[in-house]
Amino acid sequence: MLAAGDKAPGWEKAFALKDRTLRCVDEGTSGGLHSAGSGIYFGLEEAVRRVRAAGVDGITSHENCGATLAWCGQNGMDAGEAEKVAQEWARKLAQAAGVAYRGYLSYGEMLRKDEFHYAVAVYYDGTGRFNPAAAPDLPAGFTVSRRYFDPHDLELCLGIALGEYGFGERFTQSEPLYAVVIGDEREPQFSADRLAAELEPRLKKFNGRVAIARFPLPVFDRS
Ligand SMILES: [Zn+2]
Repeated sequence: MLAAGDKAPGWEKAFALKDRTLRCVDEGTSGGLHSAGSGIYFGLEEAVRRVRAAGVDGITSHENCGATLAWCGQNGMDAGEAEKVAQEWARKLAQAAGVAYRGYLSYGEMLRKDEFHYAVAVYYDGTGRFNPAAAPDLPAGFTVSRRYFDPHDLELCLGIALGEYGFGERFTQSEPLYAVVIGDEREPQFSADRLAAELEPRLKKFNGRVAIARFPLPVFDRS
């Protein structure tokens, strides 16, 4: 859990994007910008609009994408089609937006090496510059590039982390999953207060198993 007091060392390093490639929110797909299933929930027209507004210059997909799997379920498709759907979506979006298709990340190229999600946080980034993998002392987490994408992405992350492929039942009121708000105080619509207010009603249904924290985080201890 979060201890009171000192901020986790090295947190400043987290504001360093390696590139502007759009990835999934998955904790295994670090760097760049993040939307669930690389934007599959928006549909093509809206995804293209957001990709352009964000200055995204490439799109990837990745192995065993929980967000795409859920999308397939919601759209009456078989779970076995998710791998193909993820790849086809990334290719289609790249082509429609006129940016590079940067390929499919398999477990060998991801931080996550199997189907288990080890995220204990979801970073809700109002700055559009946040890369937790660049600051190794930060807790592992999904990243939602809220600056350019959508609160719905965060709900998907919570569903995955709290589900059977994440720590699931291990998140409790005393050891919650953290929704970590990273505000940009120069932009009122992305301030920490505004983002936290946006999240609060969405977290009520979890009865305290998801708690809002603000960045920079205190030292994190989950022993
Ligand atoms: Zn994914």
